[in-house]
Amino acid sequence: MAKVVVVGGGWAGCGAAAAAAKLGMETVLLEKIDHLLGAGFMAGLTSTNAKYTAINEVKAMGAPEIFEADEAAILYRNPRVPSTENGYLYDIFKCERNVFNLLERMGVRVLLETRVVDVVVRGNRLEAVKTSQGEMIAGDSFVDATGSAGPEAACHKYGWGCVMCVFKCPAYGGRVSITEKAGVKEGMARRRDGGYGAVSNAIAFIRESIDRDFLARYATEDGCVLIPAPKEIGDPDLFRKIRTQQFYDSDDFNDRIVSVDNGTIKFMSRPWVNLPVLRRMEGFESVALYDPAAGGRGNAVRFLATAPWEPTLQVTERPNLFCCGEKLGMVGTTDATITGILAGHNAARATLGLPLLRMPRTTLIGESLAYVREKLQNPEGWYDKYSFLGTGGLGKRLKECGLYTTDLAVVKSRIAENNLSGVLGRLEQK
Ligand SMILES: Cc1cc2nc3c(=O)[nH]c(=O)nc-3n(C[C@H](O)[C@H](O)[C@H](O)COP(=O)(O)OP(=O)(O)OC[C@H]3O[C@@H](n4cnc5c(N)ncnc54)[C@H](O)[C@@H]3O)c2cc1C
Repeated sequence: MAKVVVVGGGWAGCGAAAAAAKLGMETVLLEKIDHLLGAGFMAGLTSTNAKYTAINEVKAMGAPEIFEADEAAILYRNPRVPSTENGYLYDIFKCERNVFNLLERMGVRVLLETRVVDVVVRGNRLEAVKTSQGEMIAGDSFVDATGSAGPEAACHKYGWGCVMCVFKCPAYGGRVSITEKAGVKEGMARRRDGGYGAVSNAIAFIRESIDRDFLARYATEDGCVLIPAPKEIGDPDLFRKIRTQQFYDSDDFNDRIVSVDNGTIKFMSRPWVNLPVLRRMEGFESVALYDPAAGGRGNAVRFLATAPWEPTLQVTERPNLFCCGEKLGMVGTTDATITGILAGHNAARATLGLPLLRMPRTTLIGESLAYVREKLQNPEGWYDKYSFLGTGGLGKRLKECGLYTTDLAVVKSRIAENNLSGVLGRLEQK
């Protein structure tokens, strides 16, 4: 059987592995830590705004499975998170298990605690990856889904040191980029404070450390509680300059804390908080941090490793290496999953010598990817992060093109008109 090797078990890698396995490939997924979903293990808010359209384009293209695993862990539909619609909040813990079980059912060999440290390249093609245990894993096509966070040294250089976040670098080792190991130069995002990368903009607390009466509000307020924020809890002007999502650049997120229930209690748009100030606030008197453990001091630095890529999601000049998720410059769980699915699908096609799928600009996904590629050609474009969510310039573009819709019949017929119905579930020539 032809073999696809996916490195990185975040949402992007899980999407890629599911897509390749669906086409009958022998698929192996290598993840350095002890669970799947990567940054997405701390996420929970998904399918918001135009992401909803993008998800439904993929479903119409024949790859609903991973979204169904996610939807089976829904805690709240349409949470009242400002500036969002159509979204839901998933239980991060349950969702991880759902995705793990799905991949196993689909026949993916999932190897946790397996960190890739090197690659074998012949000419412009990858032949194998090497793990920290010294094992060589050969493949026909490869997917770099290693994300853009850390490693630990990068958090020291560009951030606030190791804050003991979900990536667990001190215990499992830091991120190693497959693209870079394959000899392709990556880019780093810029920050408006003059630094590089972008700082994770959410922190999570242990539910049980929050007052019970306060906690009950999440159930009655659709999963999202808005809390007035004293200025001393953290400087919104600094946060605006350093964080990963421009989506939060509004008074909705700066003047108050937008907190959600994703299995933990998560503060969105706050890279860190002043804990003594928080502990003076009603409901949070005994609050304890869950992730990052040092979220009273700082947060992880991401977007330090973006690959150059083609419309097929091939890494430029490496025909059997594909990239997805934060590795290609997009932020968000839906974004990682969808680009992962497309990368995994094309990795399977490349393995079999079939023509690769390029999403046409007449789809929301295709137009968004084209927009991101255009932006990354320009130095100013490296200050922004991009998402199917559809904010900022991309949101404007999607509206101008009339691509953002919640009408599922319109989405289905758009996919049919582009001859893409069911395409992710089959391998015939196009
Ligand atoms: C705290 C936090 C909260 C967030 N909340 C939300 C939210 O509510 N909604 C939303 O849409 N987005 C949210 N995001 C953003 C979203 O989670 C990410 O953009 C998305 O999940 C990135 O997925 P990815 O697969 O591209 O990368 P990652 O999640 O970074 O996954 C990369 C994976 O690769 C592994 N890896 C790296 N190097 C190697 C190697 N050499 N060998 C093996 N494995 C390796 C890493 O351990 C990691 O698991 C949040 C992010 C954070 C940090």
